[in-house]
Amino acid sequence: MGKVTGFLEIERHDRAYAPVAERVKNYNEFVVPLSDKDLRDQAARCMNCGIPYCHGTGSAHPGTPGCPVNNQIPDWNDLVYNDNWQEAARNLHSTNNFPEFTGRICPAPCEASCTLNIDDNPVTIKTIECAIVDRAFENGWVKPEVASIKTGQSVAIIGAGPAGLAAAQQLARAGHDVHVYEKLAKAGGLLRYGIPDFKMEKHLIDRRVAQMEGEGVTFHYNSPVGGTAPGAVDPAELLKQYDAVALTGGAEYPRDLAIPGRDLAGVHFAMDFLTQQNRRVSGEPLGDKPEILATGKRVVVIGGGDTGSDCIGTSIRQGATSVTQIEIMPAPPEKEDKGLTWPNWPMKMRTSSSQAEGAARDFAVNTVSFEGEGGKVTKLNCVRVDGAFKPIPGTEFVIEADLVLLAMGFVSPVKDGLLTQLGVTLDPRGNVKADLDRFTTSIDKVFAAGDMRRGQSLVVWAIRDGRLAAQAIDRFLMGSTTLPR
Ligand SMILES: Cc1cc2nc3c(=O)[nH]c(=O)nc-3n(C[C@H](O)[C@H](O)[C@H](O)COP(=O)(O)OP(=O)(O)OC[C@H]3O[C@@H](n4cnc5c(N)ncnc54)[C@H](O)[C@@H]3O)c2cc1C
Ligand code: SF4
Repeated sequence: MGKVTGFLEIERHDRAYAPVAERVKNYNEFVVPLSDKDLRDQAARCMNCGIPYCHGTGSAHPGTPGCPVNNQIPDWNDLVYNDNWQEAARNLHSTNNFPEFTGRICPAPCEASCTLNIDDNPVTIKTIECAIVDRAFENGWVKPEVASIKTGQSVAIIGAGPAGLAAAQQLARAGHDVHVYEKLAKAGGLLRYGIPDFKMEKHLIDRRVAQMEGEGVTFHYNSPVGGTAPGAVDPAELLKQYDAVALTGGAEYPRDLAIPGRDLAGVHFAMDFLTQQNRRVSGEPLGDKPEILATGKRVVVIGGGDTGSDCIGTSIRQGATSVTQIEIMPAPPEKEDKGLTWPNWPMKMRTSSSQAEGAARDFAVNTVSFEGEGGKVTKLNCVRVDGAFKPIPGTEFVIEADLVLLAMGFVSPVKDGLLTQLGVTLDPRGNVKADLDRFTTSIDKVFAAGDMRRGQSLVVWAIRDGRLAAQAIDRFLMGSTTLPR
């Protein structure tokens, strides 16, 4: 433990954001890192509790408190306090392949379960995590960790999102010959094509990919597995060619709103909008689809989660005249009842950095229909709903809009192509059914991890799943495994 009385003497102090007027001028990250002194002070606040819920229970199920990858938080807080950053980086990487991703975009369930959060004053765990890994890269401490012995076994990973990347890195380090097949032009999955650069710049993914290539991972881009698109790879061929196959293709099937007017021009899925902007920023061609831009438009975002927030921040940067976000759920309480919720993740009102940039928000609102003129959307007909989502008579109202973005989450993985051709069994929610310990599917030597197995989730859970799947695959191939969880 750092400083025994640190939590009594030092107040929580976290990273600030660049002012709104400045940050909305571009798509760069805008979080201002803490100084070295502040980082040391904040690390000193960790109490090294008897039961540190922050580093999680070890359960692979969402809903359990603390860090899903079981980061050893009190240990690296102590190392930062004692100025031993290199050892802190080694410790952090022993549980988390990509702390530079989670240190930027994880919702930080660790901080919700910190004992100091009983008093709304948790340790700034995520900020310290980010500082450790950023310093590790700056100092050249992050290098390829090449396996000393090759096993002669080969693994195909289908999908280069955080789950596939984590699994690939772990398996390469165990000495297997790992090939990642990705249908898009670059690696990262939703980290690259969904999450905007202002939350996480994409050079962070490139340098990890470089590390993994140095560890012997081979990436096959523009290689959709299954289906009939140009360059499609036959899944049956992969089954013949490799000793194990991991399905890490994400949950890409978006939830739609089947109401009158859905087919009007100007009503789009959030991901179609976000992916285009991410491609613009990186200079990747947009393809043959028409451009979706918020410039000069009244934008309505339907859905209140991370995706909705990303649509808001992107619309504002593109120059929308107004942005309104509506959510069918009732407004959550401003503050949680700690006695009931701690150390679990509480439902409460949160304002994302994008929402703070100037979106109007409304809750308990259902959209009944879209209306338009000349085939283009001009308004949403809405109604307020009660706790059972039933319309409240007399509360009908209209929101004017030129662009509507559907950000209501994802239903399941896409079934056409890969999953249908493999004939793999799905669970009742339409995700790939896989054993929770062995990550095995209904098909011999085929494993599944990440959103494709658990449904839409978080980056940190995808990393967790990728690590556990790698462990299971290594055990399957070798009879035992020394890979860490
Ligand atoms: C807009 C948005 C914002 C989000 N913001 C956050 C956030 O702030 N914090 C957070 O923790 N989580 C966030 N999430 C959730 C998070 O991004 C996902 O939970 C996570 O990326 C899932 O990782 P994955 O590897 O399972 O799948 P994905 O990231 O979806 O990656 C799957 C990869 O597989 C590829 N693929 C699919 N099918 C095939 C095929 N047949 N052949 C070859 N390749 C294939 C895809 O192209 C993709 O690259 C957000 C999600 C969205 C959509
Ligand atoms: S990965 Fe997320 S939950 Fe774990 S320590 Fe980092 S911010 Fe906290």
